[in-house]
Amino acid sequence: MLPDQLTCTVGPLARITPGTHEVLLVESREWLSRRPYHVQRIALILAHMHAFAAELAQEGHRVRVLRGDAPMVDLLRQDGAGAPGVPMVAMEPAEREMRAELAPLVSSGALRWVPNGMFLTTREEFLASAGRPWKMESFYRAVRKRTGILMDADGAPIGGKLSFDADNRKPWKGSPAAPAPPRFESPSEPLSREIRAEVREDIARRFPHHPGTLDLDAIPVTQCEVAELWSWAKAECLPHFGPWEDAMSTRSRGLFHTRISPLLNVGRILARTLVDDALDLELPLQCAEGFVRQVIGWREFVRHVHAETDGFRTGEFARDGDPSVTPGDGGYARWAGKRWHPHAPAPGGVDGGARPADFGQCTPLPPAYWGAPSGMRCLDSVVADVWAESWSHHITRLMVLGNIATLLDVSPREIADWFWVAYADAWDWVVEPNVMGMATFGAGGIMTTKPYVCGGAYIDRMSDYCKGCAFDPSSDCPVTSLYWAYLERHEKRLDSNPRMWVVLNSMRKRAEGRRTADSARFVAVRDMLVRGERIDGALPGIS
Ligand SMILES: Cc1cc2nc3c(=O)[nH]c(=O)nc-3n(C[C@H](O)[C@H](O)[C@H](O)COP(=O)(O)OP(=O)(O)OC[C@H]3O[C@@H](n4cnc5c(N)ncnc54)[C@H](O)[C@@H]3O)c2cc1C
Ligand code: SF4
Repeated sequence: MLPDQLTCTVGPLARITPGTHEVLLVESREWLSRRPYHVQRIALILAHMHAFAAELAQEGHRVRVLRGDAPMVDLLRQDGAGAPGVPMVAMEPAEREMRAELAPLVSSGALRWVPNGMFLTTREEFLASAGRPWKMESFYRAVRKRTGILMDADGAPIGGKLSFDADNRKPWKGSPAAPAPPRFESPSEPLSREIRAEVREDIARRFPHHPGTLDLDAIPVTQCEVAELWSWAKAECLPHFGPWEDAMSTRSRGLFHTRISPLLNVGRILARTLVDDALDLELPLQCAEGFVRQVIGWREFVRHVHAETDGFRTGEFARDGDPSVTPGDGGYARWAGKRWHPHAPAPGGVDGGARPADFGQCTPLPPAYWGAPSGMRCLDSVVADVWAESWSHHITRLMVLGNIATLLDVSPREIADWFWVAYADAWDWVVEPNVMGMATFGAGGIMTTKPYVCGGAYIDRMSDYCKGCAFDPSSDCPVTSLYWAYLERHEKRLDSNPRMWVVLNSMRKRAEGRRTADSARFVAVRDMLVRGERIDGALPGIS
């Protein structure tokens, strides 16, 4: 059982009687320390592997855990598990890097993949419906039609339209009150207490050098605790999910988002359960549709994009250079002033991933993403949230972290590596398309029609970050200058896209002096941030 498929409801475990087979889990320190992962991400994975192993044993399964410092593939080789004729069997992981690492075992016949049953759609369905360039909306329409989800008897979408996205853009002013997620400070289950103590000790002993704050009480660990988080999400989040889906606030990190992704991506709850349960609730249609679209639409779509492009390595993506040689550190060394020293070298077959950069983006990721104050309250607040809990919701990822990195022309590979190390729900199949494909537009228009960029006005409308900022969104906001400078810098490329014409025309109408000032500010802001300096001093071009 690989660390991202901790389930017995689908896959090989769903088909065997407890006791008839040996269930093997592999806990490799090299794999967990390959990048400077947030300590909360490591804790989440360890806790769920321990809990899953214990729960299986309680059901009568024979469970063995291979634990060691070496890479996963070497731990399995040394153990001698699997052989031609009697191979180990596992679901093919969605994570490309894990497939690459374990490929030699598959070639030798020691390991056999079976299809991954944790997803809801097939490659054939994606290829038949997503068009080219791939469009999430076309794919989503086909999935809705095939499954009948939120469709009426005549095959039309309930409520008359497929998406209620346009209705789901309200800023949040404090009402309805945002729910606080459950905490697991005094768990009643002995297993939960035991695992928390084990993981705390393990982190202190084996992973003390990893960045981020450890908050074990925030992690649901056992199956009962996972159910408790999901019940909370159903009762407190989903009824308000839609309208405030795009809102951001310093008063609530999560607003009405469910925080289910870290558990979903390791298999402790399945997408099918989320969708079935959400449809069973009497939710306002815009909430039900908004949530379902994320799970059967976006989540499935990005997985197919990743698989079809072999992690952005094939076809037109290959032009931007070979994959990085070793796993990236997301700018850790620049911030920490020392190299990330993994415990052991990554095994053969594991590289640092593709480097699409359609606009030639190559700015190094600023240390602000690691917590060095930038002086921009939006960025500093979200970064602090991420390092506090290894999670933030979709719009903070897209319109603050992704947006600012995009406006600075940060290398899509480096910002993708940063998201990968910082977030508890990050795995290559989901983080790379979201960051390199969607947020930064690094792979051009392969999966979205235009870059997701904005100036300070959008952030001010959708959040309360600007209220306490040293800058004013209506006059001297650096994000706004970066936005105009981005449009000017990439005008030629963006002009081929009719969806960009309105904003490009606005940019062209700006007085020559303003345009020159925007470009000068871009250079000043970029350089200061890359050097790790705050930018709340005087910037060029603003009187
Ligand atoms: C730059 C960027 C990076 C991201 N990196 C990741 C990542 O590493 N791992 C990850 O799981 N999601 C990622 N996402 C998608 C999304 O932000 C998270 O899935 C979501 O914020 C998780 O919080 P939640 O469970 O409260 O989600 P909710 O808002 O409650 O949504 C429900 C579920 O929908 C799914 N979902 C929603 N949007 C997406 C999406 N774009 N791609 C895939 N699944 C989606 C998730 O499984 C999520 O749990 C990223 C998005 C962006 C813009
Ligand atoms: S004023 Fe600009 S920099 Fe400050 S929080 Fe608002 S958008 Fe961010």
